[in-house]
Amino acid sequence: MKNDYYGILGVDRNATAEDIKKNYRRLAMKYHPDRNPGDREAEEKFKEAAEAYEVLCDPEKRGIYDRYGHEGLQGSGYHGFSGFEDIFSSFGDIFEDVFGFGGGGRARSRTAVRQGADLRYDLRLTFMEAVFGVSREIEVGRLVACGGCKGTGSAAGTSPEVCGTCQGRGQVTQRSGFFSISTTCPHCRGEGRIIRNPCRECRGTGKIQSSKSVQIRIPPGVETGSRLRLRGEGEDGEHGGPSGDLYVFIEVDAHEYFERHGDDILLKIPLSFTQAALGATIEVPTLNGAEKLKIPKGTQHGKIFRLPGKGIPNLRGFGRGDQIVQTVVEVPTNLTKQEEKVLKEFARLRGEA
Ligand SMILES: [Zn+2]
Ligand SMILES: [Zn+2]
Repeated sequence: MKNDYYGILGVDRNATAEDIKKNYRRLAMKYHPDRNPGDREAEEKFKEAAEAYEVLCDPEKRGIYDRYGHEGLQGSGYHGFSGFEDIFSSFGDIFEDVFGFGGGGRARSRTAVRQGADLRYDLRLTFMEAVFGVSREIEVGRLVACGGCKGTGSAAGTSPEVCGTCQGRGQVTQRSGFFSISTTCPHCRGEGRIIRNPCRECRGTGKIQSSKSVQIRIPPGVETGSRLRLRGEGEDGEHGGPSGDLYVFIEVDAHEYFERHGDDILLKIPLSFTQAALGATIEVPTLNGAEKLKIPKGTQHGKIFRLPGKGIPNLRGFGRGDQIVQTVVEVPTNLTKQEEKVLKEFARLRGEA
């Protein structure tokens, strides 16, 4: 479901072209990607506003939209946006118009400072590593600026030339009547420059695959689905932009007998039927070693005992959870003749036989 174009731009259905342009300008300034680097929501809003404006600023398209809605525009050779770049290539002129950018707003931002891409690393931990935290050195594969050409892509002693087709803008503009359409320059593929003597190390791309070891400290209390963000450990930025971030996604192996429930830890312990009936002191494993637990007389199957503060350290530092011990009373099997005799006597005394 697409949102209403008037609603997106915050104008009435009978708004003047001037109002529409004014509101669009305000939204476009607010959500412009150069002002909100890496903010996906802003990017969406920016695209949405650009799409709405593209329709509402054109009397013909606006008329179709008013009469038939979004569906009316689909058949008219208008297909909305397929991507971020499209906005700039198709609507570079609106930008010049609205913002007064001279010489193509987008062409300038192609060589502008750009943040490096974020990277993802999946890390598997044992149950105990997740509980108590651990330090790890991980190898992260990423693209870095080529050392041979310092990221320019040109062989040593040469430098890239300005593309003659687009004069370095990265875009070529064709006018057809009322509209002008800018497209990515086919000669330089939008780079605005041509590399005549490509660097051999990176084959002209300016980047090489490399791996870097990163020391990470996993805090106590992480669990499957926890995500750590390491600022600046992603791909290098472009044209002097900041590096991206590295996201470490955690997956924790199950434990043989401890079961995690939030910050609490559940352990089921077997009790013989006489221990349950007569009471006993037993040893139970905890995260910090064995601990004595007193089982009172007449303890039922499924009874829960709490060991406060013996659970998992809270990831945000709010103390520790509890260990919950749940009894599993076991019925004896393979009775000897004598045991059976005693149990029958027991049953007779209880009036059960
Ligand atoms: Zn190179
Ligand atoms: Zn070009």
